[in-house]
Amino acid sequence: MDFSIIVDTFEQMERTSSRLALTDYLVSLLRKTPTDIIDRVIYLIQGKLRPDYEGVELGLAEKMAIRAISLCTGLDVESIEQIYRKTGDLGDTAGEVMKSKNQTTLLAEKMTVERVYLTLDKIAHSGGTGSQDAKLRLVSSLLSDATPRESRYIMKFIMGTLRLGIADYTVIDALALAFTGDKSYRQILENAYNVSSDLGTVAKLLAIKGLESLRLLEITLYKPVRPMLAERVRSAEEAMVRMKGQSLAAEYKLDGERIQVHKGKEKVELFSRRLEKITHHYPDVAEAIQKLIKTNETILEAEVVAINAQTDEFLPFQELMHRRRKYGIKEAIEEYPVVINIFDVLYIDGDDKTSLPYLQRRKLIEKATKGLKNEKVRLVPQAIVKKTEDLEKLMAVAIEHGCEGLMIKQLTSSYRAGARGFAWIKLKREYRSDLADTLDLVIVGALYGRGRRVGKYGALLLAAYDSKADMFRSTCKVGTGFTDLHLEHFYKNLEDTRITHRHPRVDTGMQMDLWFEPKIVIEVSASEITLSPSHTAGINSIRENYGLALRFPKFTGKIRVDKNPEDATEVEELISMYKRQMRSIKNTRALPKS
Ligand code: ATP
Repeated sequence: MDFSIIVDTFEQMERTSSRLALTDYLVSLLRKTPTDIIDRVIYLIQGKLRPDYEGVELGLAEKMAIRAISLCTGLDVESIEQIYRKTGDLGDTAGEVMKSKNQTTLLAEKMTVERVYLTLDKIAHSGGTGSQDAKLRLVSSLLSDATPRESRYIMKFIMGTLRLGIADYTVIDALALAFTGDKSYRQILENAYNVSSDLGTVAKLLAIKGLESLRLLEITLYKPVRPMLAERVRSAEEAMVRMKGQSLAAEYKLDGERIQVHKGKEKVELFSRRLEKITHHYPDVAEAIQKLIKTNETILEAEVVAINAQTDEFLPFQELMHRRRKYGIKEAIEEYPVVINIFDVLYIDGDDKTSLPYLQRRKLIEKATKGLKNEKVRLVPQAIVKKTEDLEKLMAVAIEHGCEGLMIKQLTSSYRAGARGFAWIKLKREYRSDLADTLDLVIVGALYGRGRRVGKYGALLLAAYDSKADMFRSTCKVGTGFTDLHLEHFYKNLEDTRITHRHPRVDTGMQMDLWFEPKIVIEVSASEITLSPSHTAGINSIRENYGLALRFPKFTGKIRVDKNPEDATEVEELISMYKRQMRSIKNTRALPKS
């Protein structure tokens, strides 16, 4: 397949600001793609070479990329660096340099998708001494045969700066439309994606073996399963109503990082909530699992939490950030000790356990962790509760122990991969006061800073996720709660996601100085939700032409690196929070004065 077909499509996608057009372009690209390489094309669309959990990275230093451009255009490194400073992107730089050099390719070898993919794959897999030189040769041979437009995208792939911002759900929609002609089959595709976390494989199975083959996809060791998620309630009473007065399991909701543990005979792998391999951040946890867990092949879900080694008290989520580093892991293990608390099991020795009811799964993890007490691997504290008062009491105990609150679980529920529902309910401390609830929102734009903030961002435009339309709709501008360190951090990291116009998946009535690809999620608190003529989250749901805005939003200091933009607070949640808030205002007014 000619690589230029991908280039044409990506150029169209970059230019559009219509979300529907994005899907249409994808559908027509997928229809043109030969089935034997459809998995690779899917990965390229997502800006990667393999599914996230394999952790394949190209690892080409910026300097090397610049040298490669220099090698095949003859332009000196300094001039290329100058253009790079202007464009801010090495892909754009490569395109520009090659265009101005009037690079006409003699096409020694045709530029096909297969060739681009295989070369990138080789780059990713060359390691050890002399590997940077080998990578340099591979990149420049590719660029020498490419047109300026092609080299622009090749370089974007290599540097990881392709900013199409396509969600997995858009790809699923496009696949359903391209291969079944009917979007309603998306559920089958989504289920297959939930157990495999690999859209490339899903696409290939669908294209070659058809829809039925997707139903047969099974949970496999070392391939993460998309996590089951919880709905929120405001009070113990509401939780009881949601559980229809039945007995329920109340577990500590620990304030740490969710981890999916895959334990085999030879190795243990750990995956984050975003399904990235993060074993290297917690080698101590992997070792403890291998030593202490008694089953052979097992997939477990757990929360890793930082603790105070002297007092054994739980510490807040932010402490874990010290463990997310490339170097000095050994020191960090000593300095920032963690424990892992198991709360679920999905698979044991070839058997999928997700369809078992909660209580049976709990028995299995009790067995697997039998005899462990105060060690690195622990079982999440849990109690079976029937009465609201008991739930309230437990909530107080959990908070006293440094937890965020409780996770309340239906005793009969199976494990529903990738789904958010009321079989799991989170009851957090914040929800008890009047909208002191925190939200996880996506940064989509910014205003330049003034005064003390010149040269940094003044305010960030934040959006909630509308999963029905796969759009990000704005709900506030936030300018408070940032330390100087945060501001610098954002300035550096947001630069990497900067685009020239509002992203097609972003909807807002606000005018901003800068726009970003929706990527980074941060946590904010707010005093209340109000109706707004300029923000578009929940527009027309309460009043015509009005959306919902956060009043007095404040950054809490938490950057949710464990969340994808599609995991941000949903517009629907915002609407129900608004309705709840209005009900509680009405109820307070109706109370007799004492
Ligand atoms: P939040 O923003 O409230 O942390 P979330 O959006 O990250 O939630 P949810 O599924 O809504 O994810 O809340 C559940 C999260 O709580 C899990 O992802 C997990 O990280 C954490 N957690 C802590 N303790 C438990 C527990 N006992 N059972 C399940 N999840 C737990």
